[in-house]
Amino acid sequence: MSAEHYDVIIIGAGAAGMMCAAQAGFRGRRVLLVDHATKLAEKIRISGGGRCNFTNRKVGPEHFLCRNPHFVRSALSRYTAAHFIELVERHGIAYHERDHGQLFCDDSAQQIIAMLRSECDMAGVEWAMPASVDSIIRQDDERVRFLIDSSRGRLSCESLVIATGGLSIPKIGATPFGYRIAEQFGQGIVPPRPALVPLTLPPETLQRLQSLSGASLEVEARCNGARFREAMLITHRGLSGPVILQVSSYWQAQAYETRDWEPVSIALLPDIDIEAWLSAYASERSLVANLLSEYLPRRFAHAWCALHGFEAPLRQLGHSDRNRLAQALTDWRITPSGTQGYAKAEVTLGGVDTRGLSSKTMEATACKGLFFIGEVMDVTGHLGGYNFQWAWASGHAAGGFV
Ligand SMILES: Cc1cc2nc3c(=O)[nH]c(=O)nc-3n(C[C@H](O)[C@H](O)[C@H](O)COP(=O)(O)OP(=O)(O)OC[C@H]3O[C@@H](n4cnc5c(N)ncnc54)[C@H](O)[C@@H]3O)c2cc1C
Repeated sequence: MSAEHYDVIIIGAGAAGMMCAAQAGFRGRRVLLVDHATKLAEKIRISGGGRCNFTNRKVGPEHFLCRNPHFVRSALSRYTAAHFIELVERHGIAYHERDHGQLFCDDSAQQIIAMLRSECDMAGVEWAMPASVDSIIRQDDERVRFLIDSSRGRLSCESLVIATGGLSIPKIGATPFGYRIAEQFGQGIVPPRPALVPLTLPPETLQRLQSLSGASLEVEARCNGARFREAMLITHRGLSGPVILQVSSYWQAQAYETRDWEPVSIALLPDIDIEAWLSAYASERSLVANLLSEYLPRRFAHAWCALHGFEAPLRQLGHSDRNRLAQALTDWRITPSGTQGYAKAEVTLGGVDTRGLSSKTMEATACKGLFFIGEVMDVTGHLGGYNFQWAWASGHAAGGFV
């Protein structure tokens, strides 16, 4: 069977795939983007609550989890947030900054999709969508390295880029395709698991925390050496809110296999020196809950004190109860029982092991012409636009080389 030949075939027309396709197309390469979805870039559409948190003013390696921590440096330094902001501005997309340097579209995430689509069109990228890939065979030929059987017939290419993303939100087309191809070509996989995901609590804890359900408050959450300061939400299923999504990427690092769950530690008043505060109010007649209501939502303060047995005025607490109060305020330990899984996870932790990839080009060191970009790789950003910045940076790095 004769094959339609391209210089570059990219499987997955999401954030990373489109960025890579446009770069390669602008270099004069004949590029085909293949995607099995009927709608283009659904993950961008639903991102950032529909406004796409497309990057962050401050991006550094410290905002990413990766088994090979230095891997992200090269691509991030060569395609920075400023480059993407320049692209957004060139397309006339209005945007605004929120807390922690996060940049969002004023209007809609659709504008980012339209922008990438138009870059691809200007670069002469061709499309096979929807189209599925049945098999990929590697050949010993410098120009025709890969033969691909697809629902659009047989295709061939010199460079094959896998940009099929992670496993989160299967209902909009996430698949383990990228991991299977990695395995087929001898690449290692760091076991994937849901990240940036709400944490669930065991029934007995849920019952205990029932009176706190619905509370939302700014806390510092810590887990496995990581600490974040943002809002926490207590829900009828467990813990959520940005601070919990952030620590979820660090939680269960050791325990995932053994199910020996580790606690998340919450500091309710991270700005306050608790010992000094307790001394200052040592002779207070007010209930502990009323004193805490100065800093915490009133309903929460009362329910939390009832839960911990601090229902007396502060001055009536004995020495050991005061110590227990200080401990609970600075290190309130809650042990989750799991996560809400890929259905609710924003990203997938783990993926194609970067130790087998070039940090400059994203090419597999043991398989010339095969590239992995975006979330399919073992690179996971914090919440705040970092996952898109990785998609842009890795897509750009590969697009300049394929
Ligand atoms: C609800 C939600 C909100 C988010 N909000 C943000 C945010 O505001 N900021 C941020 O930085 N990140 C956010 N993210 C994460 C971000 O969307 C991803 O990290 C990013 O889209 C990854 O880009 P990618 O190109 O690697 O993968 P994707 O954008 O997921 O693209 C993968 C593409 O591959 C296609 N594909 C999959 N399997 C196959 C197959 N077998 N054959 C053919 N095609 C296939 C898919 O259809 C898809 O088009 C959010 C994620 C979710 C789920």
